[in-house]
Amino acid sequence: MNSIIESNRKPHAVLTPYPLQGHINAVFKLAKLLHLRGFHITFVHTEYNYKRFLKSMAMSPNNNNHLIHSIPHFRFETIPDGLPHPDDNGNDHNQDLLALCDSVRNKFLAPFRNLLAKLIDLASAGAVPPVSCLVSDGTMPFTIQAAQDLGLPILLLFPSAASSFLSAMHFRTLIHKGLIPLKDESCLTNGYLETKVDWIPGMKNFRLKDLPDFIRTTDPNDPMLQFLMELTDKAHNANAVVLNTFDELEGEVVNALSSMLPAVYTIGPFPSFSYHNPEDQQLEILGSNLWKEDTVCLEWLDSKEPRSVIYVNFGSITVISPEKLSEFAWGLANSKKPFLWIIRPDLVIGGSVVLSPEFVDETQGRGLIASWCNQEQVLNHPSVGGFLTHCGWNSTTESVCAGVPMLCWPFFADQPTNCRNICNEWGIGIEINNDVKRKDLENLVNELMVGEKGKKMRQKVMELKKKAEEVTRPGGSSYMNLDKVIKEVLLKEN
Ligand code: UDP
Repeated sequence: MNSIIESNRKPHAVLTPYPLQGHINAVFKLAKLLHLRGFHITFVHTEYNYKRFLKSMAMSPNNNNHLIHSIPHFRFETIPDGLPHPDDNGNDHNQDLLALCDSVRNKFLAPFRNLLAKLIDLASAGAVPPVSCLVSDGTMPFTIQAAQDLGLPILLLFPSAASSFLSAMHFRTLIHKGLIPLKDESCLTNGYLETKVDWIPGMKNFRLKDLPDFIRTTDPNDPMLQFLMELTDKAHNANAVVLNTFDELEGEVVNALSSMLPAVYTIGPFPSFSYHNPEDQQLEILGSNLWKEDTVCLEWLDSKEPRSVIYVNFGSITVISPEKLSEFAWGLANSKKPFLWIIRPDLVIGGSVVLSPEFVDETQGRGLIASWCNQEQVLNHPSVGGFLTHCGWNSTTESVCAGVPMLCWPFFADQPTNCRNICNEWGIGIEINNDVKRKDLENLVNELMVGEKGKKMRQKVMELKKKAEEVTRPGGSSYMNLDKVIKEVLLKEN
């Protein structure tokens, strides 16, 4: 039995992810880990995302909707997101970071307080255990206020790399040093971003261009920059911060963070943890996707040679121009390697995905295009030998845990920081020029899949995979940190 809870009365954790797919996946995994350790879980979606989640579950091969209400002590609740519904032109405000941040800042606290009041009523009626702690995405700082109102402990999960979080903790220093905001737009192209930022602990080889791209602004009041600084300031008011990383990967950076915040625990990488509970096997298969998974991907992979397929996926928010789509397409086609390419319906700017009939003819049988997949299953399929990724932190950890080397095409946010680590610090990936050209991509795909560099990277990523497995096993550092944070923060009597 995994549970460290001895009392009959279960502790009750309310979890609040930032309402984007990557954040939801990370917080959901933490919710499952807490559930396995004996917590009653309330998982809070926005109304809009919950509808999408239900729809994607209903459309899963076995119609997994029944799971949602059948797992004991695991419940979903919703709050409104305060955003307009997606319009007829396909504009989805829930994919618009600025709109989301504005809403989180101004519209989430009141409904969240109402939800907590409802849970308190339910607890009085004996329907749920009393709420004992909040576990919130660090990008939802209003939850700290709600925890303080009720005198509850609050744990923040920052679902990014420790390096990205530490970079954000230094945004004020960057301003103080006069490095940001940028003097003018020319700084984006005149080499200014090559400026070294070698004074952030554990990040001595980093340049301005490797920091989260929220710094690429000329506006001192840039709303995203302000939002990020507000988050990092507020992190000091939480009881503890947890990170989906591990000491062997980012130890020095984590030490630096530990010296700046009251308590920091590394409890990742989440994909390596076991979510298996013999008493409750349904939990294991419960996922958190908002898009319908295309199951044909796994069958198709079954027909391919071991490690022969390059898997291409740019995550849940990245968008690309039709011109870049075409360069990617022909780079893949000309590499002559089998590929599985996930093209979300909203991936291409302007809406329509147009791939030429020549491309389709050329890649028949060798390439599969789908709209969404179960990425972890795909990455762990023996036929996958490389991952062309936008370097989202979840995708990065999932690739490390599957032992798959990467081709990196960072798009925005923390992705440049992850890319720098992947390619330069950890040696498990190769960066693609932002202005991708088909010939370069063709060469890089071959380098990664069958070249000498690719071979070395595969060895290194396999070593990291092993370490990730070690730290998440009983006795490993992340496993023990999770137990520690539960005892020292979530179950601590006030
Ligand atoms: N994902 C998935 N199937 C897809 C695309 C993405 O399951 O076809 C999942 C992926 O496994 C990851 C998350 O969506 O957990 C994306 O998060 P990430 O941090 O990598 O990137 P973001 O979408 O936030 O840019």
